[in-house]
Amino acid sequence: MKFETKAIHGLKYIDKRYSSWNNNISMASAYKTKEFGTEQEFEYGRVSNPTRRELEKLMAVLENGKHGYAFSSGMAAITSVFTRFKAGDHIVLGTDIYGGTYRIITDIFAKFNLKYTFTDTTNLDKVKDAIKPETVAIFIETPSNPLLDITDIRGIVKIAKEHGLLTIVDNTFLTPYLQRPLELGADIVVHSATKFLSGHHDVIAGIVVVNDDSLSEEIWFAQKAIGAILSPFDSWLLMRSLKTLKIRVDTAQNNTFKLLEFFRNHPSVEKVYSPIENNNKGKEIHKNQASGIGAVFSFVLKQENKVKSFFDNLKLVTLAPSLGGAETLVTHPSTVTHAEMPESEKNARGITNTMIRVAVGLENIDDLIEDFKNALEK
Ligand SMILES: *Cc1c(COP(=O)(O)O)cnc(C)c1O
Repeated sequence: MKFETKAIHGLKYIDKRYSSWNNNISMASAYKTKEFGTEQEFEYGRVSNPTRRELEKLMAVLENGKHGYAFSSGMAAITSVFTRFKAGDHIVLGTDIYGGTYRIITDIFAKFNLKYTFTDTTNLDKVKDAIKPETVAIFIETPSNPLLDITDIRGIVKIAKEHGLLTIVDNTFLTPYLQRPLELGADIVVHSATKFLSGHHDVIAGIVVVNDDSLSEEIWFAQKAIGAILSPFDSWLLMRSLKTLKIRVDTAQNNTFKLLEFFRNHPSVEKVYSPIENNNKGKEIHKNQASGIGAVFSFVLKQENKVKSFFDNLKLVTLAPSLGGAETLVTHPSTVTHAEMPESEKNARGITNTMIRVAVGLENIDDLIEDFKNALEK
């Protein structure tokens, strides 16, 4: 089955009681013990829930993995994965990773003596240099945010395997429709399902998918021990969303291609960042590991004094810090998503006050262009 067919038929779910082929929402927190002294699949809702289980199986199918787990947020998923490490272990992470991931590593896991090095993972030599005897994993995000830098997943996997490390990939930006890290050799895929997977800006959720059985046991243990699980209703909403993932991403991506064209050619715009710009040194690598560019890009205005008027004059597009939903959103990375990064570091990387990130939605492209044009020219 092709991706979109799997998203719709991948589970072959038929409800036993009513023959409905749509998942039921099972709200029960506890299940009747059928026979004293024996184990059963569903006993207590934190540990396992039928609706969540269906979603977890579907996500495993879509990532082409064996085991899926659903959490109450992307951060809950990532946190639960990190709890498999112990004090003294060392992790190499990309410099451009999601701010929340940076924060749990530096402000929370650091207190438990988990060691870390942030490095430019687009440069494999720098990744090799960052590895120490205590290193246990490499954590990457590709394309990165907001620069859309590309990390070579196969290259990272090769280095990780040589050193006996796990490769963890945050696949939020592309979804399994456009990029499947497990097929490229990664060990753990994490998602903020809040973004494209849910797709309507109305669910906060996280996903983990793995292949290895013993790794799966560890994630399952963390999920039940920590309890940051996805609710039955949100699990159901996500399964509903996944049926349209392909058409949503296709539409948002087509809009993105047209918006890139528009911004590249606009006289007020200095520069555009996307996985297919000629200025992106990972352009070819990206083509070899993903089947699309997704629907997030950034652009830089020539004049800083135009930034506020740009945001103020948008009528359709909303200033808000998320991505992957039906509505097109813009954000200001230097003061929002990357507010905690030191000024010197931001400037060195090009995350300037004139940079704007666009998370493209599903509106008609003519309406989007008209709104952007108006805001740029006012
Ligand atoms: C949003 C996001 C997260 C965090 O997910 P939440 O669902 O907000 O907890 C992690 N990684 C990436 C790339 C994200 O965009």
